[in-house]
Amino acid sequence: MDKENKRVLFDTVIVGCGPAGLTAAIYSGRARFKTVVLQSRLVASQVLTTSEVENYPGFVGAVSGFELIDKFQKQAESFGVEIVSATVSEIRKNKENFQVVTDDQIYDAKSVIIASGAQPKELGVDGEIRLRGKGVSYCGTCDGAFFRNKKIIVVGGGDTAVEEALFLTKFAETVTIVHRRDRLRAVKILEERAFSCEKISFIWDSVVRQIEGAEKVESIILENVKSKEKEKVFCDGVFIFVGYLPNVGFMKDFLDKDEKGYIITDSNMVTSHSGIFACGDCRNTSLRQVITACGDGAIAAQSARYYLEELMGVGYK
Ligand SMILES: Cc1cc2nc3c(=O)[nH]c(=O)nc-3n(C[C@H](O)[C@H](O)[C@H](O)COP(=O)(O)OP(=O)(O)OC[C@H]3O[C@@H](n4cnc5c(N)ncnc54)[C@H](O)[C@@H]3O)c2cc1C
Repeated sequence: MDKENKRVLFDTVIVGCGPAGLTAAIYSGRARFKTVVLQSRLVASQVLTTSEVENYPGFVGAVSGFELIDKFQKQAESFGVEIVSATVSEIRKNKENFQVVTDDQIYDAKSVIIASGAQPKELGVDGEIRLRGKGVSYCGTCDGAFFRNKKIIVVGGGDTAVEEALFLTKFAETVTIVHRRDRLRAVKILEERAFSCEKISFIWDSVVRQIEGAEKVESIILENVKSKEKEKVFCDGVFIFVGYLPNVGFMKDFLDKDEKGYIITDSNMVTSHSGIFACGDCRNTSLRQVITACGDGAIAAQSARYYLEELMGVGYK
């Protein structure tokens, strides 16, 4: 593809098509800015890996992640926003504009909103990479159905781990939650459900040291962090939910990041680089949820609007 032949100048290029990026798109489209949303061909919005979202206001019971994103997208498109599948590999800046470089096109932009989300962290233990897709998974919604009547280990103790463990009980014979502490970090309502679920059991104070199996997962080696004793546990699948890493590789050293790699913003989603805003799970924030990503997206678009109006000389003082 000839990246140089298809140059288009946008008021705002939004990197990421999850709740943060799509909310920013709705606000930017309503402000009548020429806006494009780029979504990676390689990494999906985390909401699309979620079976049900039951804490997003307006849906009694629950809404599927797919339905939510579909509605957000249609709403953004109704305000004239373009949504394109393209993976951003780099962002540059010349005297006038930013250049958002993707796998098949460069998008010139007066402002950029980064809403690229995060991805599950690996455990970093022996066997994890080799057995990925052969019993090792990071997504219950994607892979749960392959584990009908099987024995599953869920690693982690936060909201996502417990939520996914509960979801996996729809398929599995047993689900064992392995957590390095002696209590869960998950919100009470999830804890109550997990404690009262017959299929779920717990192994506390323990970490996974190795995942074993020739062609597929057969067992794991656990270590008790207090006694240091090791134990082999036979299982068919290991689902890992031990935190996330921000998708910010394409930014290289362009923006200031915190010690975990999250983009540093102020409360207006302003980054260390004028004209670039960041929102949602890719930024340093205390809560990473759909609702907070949406709120961030709205603020980022509002800040981008003020920036663009100043640039055009039509800003309100
Ligand atoms: C299993 C699971 C269950 C969850 N359950 C809930 C729940 O019940 N309730 C709740 O509120 N939250 C839940 N969350 C958290 C919620 O999904 C996230 O907080 C939310 O999706 C963050 O939105 P975001 O827009 O910041 O990022 P994401 O939704 O992750 O979207 C990131 C976007 O950036 C794009 N992208 C990434 N890199 C690039 C690139 N280089 N170029 C172009 N595009 C790129 C991706 O394609 C994607 O479109 C859950 C998360 C997980 C993983």
